[in-house]
Amino acid sequence: MTPAFGESTFKELEGALRGRILLRGTEGYDQSRQVWNAMIDKRPLAIVKVAGVSDIQATVRFARERGLPVAIRGGGHNVAGSAVCDDGLVIDLAAMKSVRVDPSARRARAEGGVLWGEYDRETQAFGLASPGGAVSTTGIAGLTLGGGFGYLSRSYGLACDNLISADVVTAEGDFVTASGDQHPDLFWALRGGGGNFGIVTSFEYQLQPVGHVLSGFVAFPFTMAEAVLKRFREVALEAPDHRVWFAAILPLPGAGKLVAVLMSDFGPEEEGWQALGPIRELGSIVLDTVARVPYCVMQRQLDANSPKGQRHYWKSAYLNELSDETIGLLVSAMENTEGVLDQVMIETQGGAISRIAKDATAFEHRQVRFNLGIFGVCTNPGLDEAVIAWARSLHGRILPYSTGGTYVNYLSMGDDVHTAYSDARFGRLAGIKARYDPGNLFRFNHNIAPAQ
Ligand SMILES: Cc1cc2nc3c(=O)[nH]c(=O)nc-3n(C[C@H](O)[C@H](O)[C@H](O)COP(=O)(O)OP(=O)(O)OC[C@H]3O[C@@H](n4cnc5c(N)ncnc54)[C@H](O)[C@@H]3O)c2cc1C
Repeated sequence: MTPAFGESTFKELEGALRGRILLRGTEGYDQSRQVWNAMIDKRPLAIVKVAGVSDIQATVRFARERGLPVAIRGGGHNVAGSAVCDDGLVIDLAAMKSVRVDPSARRARAEGGVLWGEYDRETQAFGLASPGGAVSTTGIAGLTLGGGFGYLSRSYGLACDNLISADVVTAEGDFVTASGDQHPDLFWALRGGGGNFGIVTSFEYQLQPVGHVLSGFVAFPFTMAEAVLKRFREVALEAPDHRVWFAAILPLPGAGKLVAVLMSDFGPEEEGWQALGPIRELGSIVLDTVARVPYCVMQRQLDANSPKGQRHYWKSAYLNELSDETIGLLVSAMENTEGVLDQVMIETQGGAISRIAKDATAFEHRQVRFNLGIFGVCTNPGLDEAVIAWARSLHGRILPYSTGGTYVNYLSMGDDVHTAYSDARFGRLAGIKARYDPGNLFRFNHNIAPAQ
């Protein structure tokens, strides 16, 4: 039970900040407690809009002294809504937007409130990029801390694999830099263990040279879903590292339910067009957006499909193969959706992700071939229960064909975080949590309780 806190208590903190505090009933509070997923409706005691490291330290110490739990908000995209909480403090990094690129060292340092679209814009000014998310409005923070898969990952690894160091405010309010040489245990945990271990104030990434890319999707009528997914399976499994394929069954505004295959190819253009051949020859194409585009255009191509304010419930499963049975289950579930916006998406993993040593980072699932996302989506709260039941039911039927593992960044509220890690890795993470946050101050996340 959280003790009562009055306005005067927070005035004391506000006096120590460069940023500001939003209390219940003040202007901006309701807007600031909303996250990407409208199914989340949390009412924190206060939202602290921090302006820098010293604000974060002051707020962490304030919260500790008063026994107040703390939620950390980066981009606010996590489907579980763990960036906000009821009756605790939210430390909101949205105003911390600095990105500094060092083109000669091919490194960039970005603050914890930066979104991928903002990061890409700055790094692309130098013709450089780091593997990041496939939707530009996602935060760099949560995505990197959980692993971070994107179009460049088969070429250069996950976002966390390209992390060189991270500045962190710990649960004590101390400032530390975690890297291969400094606090290496913390650095290991930050690369896949989620937001459990401290507040990352800035991330230092490796950059890669990236310019234009052949990218886009080819969409077909839903009636072709089985044939299209089987062809997707063939091309995805044969692809070189510089080519990544996604497949989805989803509704597109004005076009109804479609099956779509997305390709992004960072290799020679001619090879990319040839690789599209087996997909295009299926015929009856409803929409074909594939073109040679600037990197930032590619990074935004799915944004319109992921607007803020819809109601989401996700389940995910890693697959080592995309069997005929799995394809059949996905197609029949999409024939009988509950919300008109429900969708399933399959991302191809492998490439550089699988060549990084198994224990190099806290991220677990380096050898899997596909990541399946089952997205229950609606806009009407009255449909919440139905879309949740739909996603859970499909997930239950897919489980026997999956590895049993999950991607921590796709877990919904109430999901078991242990499914994202082996027992050994979970134990190691719990040990590191005990070292850096023994009181579990940072508990509004896919929580790894400190080892006893
Ligand atoms: C539309 C959409 C597209 C997505 N696409 C991809 C994708 O292509 N690839 C992929 O891998 N994932 C993807 N995801 C999943 C995404 O990685 C997670 O939702 C991720 O948590 C989002 O990060 P955020 O900073 O926006 O989230 P937030 O909700 O702000 O935070 C997520 C978690 O991280 C913690 N956290 C946030 N900031 C910090 C910080 N500075 N220090 C410590 N902890 C912090 C929070 O406590 C919270 O528990 C997508 C999600 C959405 C909604």
